Amino acid sequence: MSVSGIGMTSQRARMRMLERLKEQGIKNPVVLAAMNAVPRHPFLEESIQQRAYDDTPLPIGQGQTISSPYIVARSCELALRGQQLERVLEIGGGCGYQAAVLSKLAKEVLSLERIAKLVGRARVTLRELRINNVLMKNVDGSLGFKAAAPYDAIVVAAVMPFIPDELKLQLKPGGRLIAPVGAGESQRLIMVEAELDGGFRESELEAVKFVPLLSGVI
Ligand code: SAH
Repeated sequence: MSVSGIGMTSQRARMRMLERLKEQGIKNPVVLAAMNAVPRHPFLEESIQQRAYDDTPLPIGQGQTISSPYIVARSCELALRGQQLERVLEIGGGCGYQAAVLSKLAKEVLSLERIAKLVGRARVTLRELRINNVLMKNVDGSLGFKAAAPYDAIVVAAVMPFIPDELKLQLKPGGRLIAPVGAGESQRLIMVEAELDGGFRESELEAVKFVPLLSGVI
């Protein structure tokens, strides 16, 4: 397929993706604008770029997947809570797509990814798209990144067995953490809100399907 070919296809496909996101209940205009602003196909191998705007996760190599557009939009909408974000932490950066969407909603995005090859590719894609406010680090992000805390939002892109307190404590008061919790086929999206008095409020949201959070750096 020629470059202009994928260009036209992607514009139409991206418009369809936005219509679908609205039908699926994504309402925040800032999130919809961010999903519109970030092309999804440059984050994928050429052989699957035609499917980039389908409503599905897709392989990104190393046994990992890019989350579906709906899940990315939904996590962003929950994290955003209608306001502008200063600093956001993403755990499980993968190909960098969600970090790119978050970069339109926050001043700074720190994205942690344990697989070096994915970090290398994500950095190149983000640079090509001239996204300069995302920092990707090749580290194990299971316990977040305390040195740069606190965060207005923490978005986890790999399923955790439970949410460690150490991670919740990296939220600013009023901040939100969005994470899939569970294992295998039994996973739910959880939202933790850090209350102004130091407590945490947890809500259980929809059933989801994420790749597992693993330990160690490779
Ligand atoms: N947000 C990503 C989704 C990638 S899938 C995107 O837009 O493409 C989840 C990612 O989490 C995988 O790339 C996986 O390698 C990574 N991951 C799993 N356990 C991790 C850990 N402990 N620390 C950092 N990244 C982790």
